[in-house]
Amino acid sequence: MPPILSYQSSRSILSTPLDQIRGVGPRLLEKLRQMGVSSLEDALYTLPHRYEDRREIRKIAHLRPGRSEVFYGEVLAASETLTPRARKKIFEVIVSDGSGQVSLKWFRYQRNWIKSRFSPGKKGLFNGEVKRFGARPEVHHPDVDFLPDKVSLQDHLASDPLNFGRILPVYPLTEGLSQKVARKIWKDIVETYAPGLVSPIPGEILQKYRLLPLAPAVQQVHWPADQASVEDLEEGRDQGRRSIVFDEFFFLELGLALRRQGMILEQGIPFQVNHLYTKPLAEMLPFRLTAAQKRVLGEIKRDVMRPHPMNRLVQGDVGSGKTIVALMAALLAIENDTQVAVVAPTEILAEQHYLNFRPWLEALNLQVGLLSGSSSPADRRNLLEGLRAGTIHLLVGTHAVLQENVEFKRLGLGIIDEQHRFGVKQRAVLRRKGENPHILVMTATPIPRTLSLTLYGDLALSVIDELPPGRTPITTRVIAENQPKTAHDIISRELKAGRQAYIVYPLVEESEKSDLKAATEAAQQLAAEIFPQYRLGLLHGRLKTEEKETVMNAFKNHHIDILVSTTVIEVGIDVPNATVMLIEHAERFGLAQLHQLRGRVGRGEHRGHCLLIHSSRYTEEARQRLEVMVKTTDGFQIAEADLQIRGPGELMGTRQAGLPDFRVANLLRDGYLLDQAREEAFKLAEKDDFLRNPEYQELREALMDRWGDRLELATVA
Ligand code: ADP
Ligand code: MG
Repeated sequence: MPPILSYQSSRSILSTPLDQIRGVGPRLLEKLRQMGVSSLEDALYTLPHRYEDRREIRKIAHLRPGRSEVFYGEVLAASETLTPRARKKIFEVIVSDGSGQVSLKWFRYQRNWIKSRFSPGKKGLFNGEVKRFGARPEVHHPDVDFLPDKVSLQDHLASDPLNFGRILPVYPLTEGLSQKVARKIWKDIVETYAPGLVSPIPGEILQKYRLLPLAPAVQQVHWPADQASVEDLEEGRDQGRRSIVFDEFFFLELGLALRRQGMILEQGIPFQVNHLYTKPLAEMLPFRLTAAQKRVLGEIKRDVMRPHPMNRLVQGDVGSGKTIVALMAALLAIENDTQVAVVAPTEILAEQHYLNFRPWLEALNLQVGLLSGSSSPADRRNLLEGLRAGTIHLLVGTHAVLQENVEFKRLGLGIIDEQHRFGVKQRAVLRRKGENPHILVMTATPIPRTLSLTLYGDLALSVIDELPPGRTPITTRVIAENQPKTAHDIISRELKAGRQAYIVYPLVEESEKSDLKAATEAAQQLAAEIFPQYRLGLLHGRLKTEEKETVMNAFKNHHIDILVSTTVIEVGIDVPNATVMLIEHAERFGLAQLHQLRGRVGRGEHRGHCLLIHSSRYTEEARQRLEVMVKTTDGFQIAEADLQIRGPGELMGTRQAGLPDFRVANLLRDGYLLDQAREEAFKLAEKDDFLRNPEYQELREALMDRWGDRLELATVA
């Protein structure tokens, strides 16, 4: 096939289904499908996950422990034996090449089959990771390639150049597809079609970062050059993989850059700062804004006074005081005769915001509404009417706010809290509820920078990097479930000193009755047996909004000493006199949630204590999480650790979270490439003629193909 030069013809060939490729039969096709490979392009982007260095055949005497090596030898003995301690059977084969002996071991095998394979005198090539335990080096579950009778090693190697004498790719395969077969298929596909891969990134950019065009990059990753470093390859530092990753990031960032620009250029609602409500609020507040809050508020003000809509992300650790910033922004909108929508990811969060905002807004004679799944039809109807008539100034709710029948008279500001559970599309829906309203996104959980660049790369960023004064450090301890006294002693000590405590039970779903029962019973038992002299309150999501309010107020006013709760209190509650946060079954919580919960204490002048109680059986991953909590209280560090432990996809929950799927890129490993790609993509998008210049036509087409839909890009090609 001659090299393809145009992007579009490359594209159409690469989307060819594999069943149209010669040599790919139905059985193989099915195996490939199981691996998620159905087109040529899928195959080209299914990269080796590991490599085998078969450039040289090592003498057995020179095998290096810890390395994957290829060696040649003759079977001296083969037998089934028992492991020294356990009663487990293993199959062991001793191989010699005259220079030394090596022991091959299998721990899982089919006895008859393996016995028939390894008879003394057979010669073969072996490959696997070398370990050294005793006198002899060992290789567990090696790859074996027997030489046919009377064939010399030289002749054998010459007959199979594909599998020897080079660095070999190892593909992530499904059962029933061998590396040998896979290598052959991939070799054919890569040789024939990789040269046709075209990615229209300007050559100067590739040169600047010493990257390869897509075609040779893909070829090199599949079939590395002889002089390549296996270490670099395995760690993803080789030039080929870096080039592919850069390519993936570059288009994403280009899309984000254009979205950002598109939004910047739209007509918005310029606000004026007339202090009608913001000033009275500032006077009512029992504190002064921190410098960071003032700065962020200033950035918001500057945005909303412009003729174009604001699109800003406010990031700040737990307790940094985002709520008040959001409230101020809301009042700015209301002062300008527009309405405000606040969207939260869960009912509980929405209710918390409602309860937080309402007292302030009522004091200013403004109307607030709460739209949740549990609103009665009549309430709902009234609410929707009020919104259309403009008598409701601020609406708080869940996704329900995004439904079609929710219409505003004049929406001026949309606030999205806990944004990482929402995607780009939800932001767009909210925007369409008004005429380009300003959008403010708040992340309660700080997220690692690489993730924020991919998730919110189209938003301007404000960071509240300072906590309000007077916070005291929190001591965190991990305590086993069967040591409750340790925890109860700490609580007693604090209560005696006049402080208050939270005890939190996990509740996966508020509707899970059995969990709720467990929490309720535990509360009763605590009250009766351990803290009979103290006042206990119980808070959970099944209570009505007013009931919750009553309990929370009782705790705030210190009519309750211990608040037993489900994760309802994750956010919003703020009682500086509460100094202990005990979390039952802490192993069931994610790091972000633990961090949020812990943020409820340490808000006053007294030292806070966080007690993480775990059950006797918990996973290694859970153990790591709890350890992170003990080590740091810094939200960003916790978020980074979360990313390390769980990986980016999991961290954000789901794909709908808006986290793009990368085929090759890995946010943990490739953050620096993301930065470079972003810088170049934004520079390019900012060129005046980017959208018109024919030089970028193919680039724009490629962008639309890859991200047009997912980023809701207007046609740019
Ligand atoms: P988060 O950023 O986690 O949403 P909140 O907005 O809930 O934090 O604020 C945490 C607590 O800090 C609240 O009690 C709030 O009233 C208080 N707070 C906010 N700003 C200040 C400030 N400048 N000085 C003192 N307390 C503040
Ligand atoms: Mg908050």
